[in-house]
Amino acid sequence: MSTGTAPDSVVEFRAVSKTYPGGVAAVRDVSLRVRRGELVAIVGPSGSGKSSMLNLMGSLDRPSAGRVLVDGHDVAELTDREVSALRAIRIGFVFQQFHLAVGVPVLDSVADGLLYAGIPLRRRRARASAALGRVGLGHRVHHLPHQLSGGERQRVAVARAVVGGPAVLLADEPTGNLDSASGAAVLALLRELHAAGTTVVVITHDREIAAALPRRIEMRDGRVVADSATDPIGAHG
Ligand code: ADP
Ligand code: MG
Repeated sequence: MSTGTAPDSVVEFRAVSKTYPGGVAAVRDVSLRVRRGELVAIVGPSGSGKSSMLNLMGSLDRPSAGRVLVDGHDVAELTDREVSALRAIRIGFVFQQFHLAVGVPVLDSVADGLLYAGIPLRRRRARASAALGRVGLGHRVHHLPHQLSGGERQRVAVARAVVGGPAVLLADEPTGNLDSASGAAVLALLRELHAAGTTVVVITHDREIAAALPRRIEMRDGRVVADSATDPIGAHG
């Protein structure tokens, strides 16, 4: 899926709302833009709609109202098959729970991040090995997930998310299951990837983590109540 010239916005929301069956309005009339090369925190208390936002940004879910553009594509105008391809090729996900397949060597878990790209297995493994080197795990490629610490597992998940060179890396509470030292290492890794050009969106309920990132979008009850990019003095309190 080629878009010709790379759009400036990697993610754009235009008046997006998400109401779940049963009537919970998790996201309410949100408009925002994440530009290529940004490192953004979406911060807010539990239940404020952060994961719902990430699911929309990652085209894992479709909005109830409004428009979501990912890497220049209006998700509503794509078929399910095209959305799957967009997601597989252009978006990297990292979740709190790592989601590494039990009993699968980490090299293969990371190589699976390239399945959609139609690359032969040997080259997938070579790229996976390089990605694992990038996250500091070049010496652990044949380990199984249960042979790694939590922090190492999350770094494997980051390697899997970036192995295909996604337009955006979406991380939902990536340090939520880690001790503070491992969490800091994962954040440092996300910063390194950002410094090397990857666009990164980090969801967190932790104000300290958010405060350390260059842009903060604050959520409350499904709404954006502050965005440091448009509201540099934080006037909404
Ligand atoms: P956060 O990630 O900030 O904790 P969520 O986006 O997970 O917030 O949830 C926002 C609100 O939407 C909560 O009230 C939650 O209970 C509700 N919610 C989330 N997912 C669903 C779902 N699949 N069905 C119904 N309600 C949901
Ligand atoms: Mg959440």
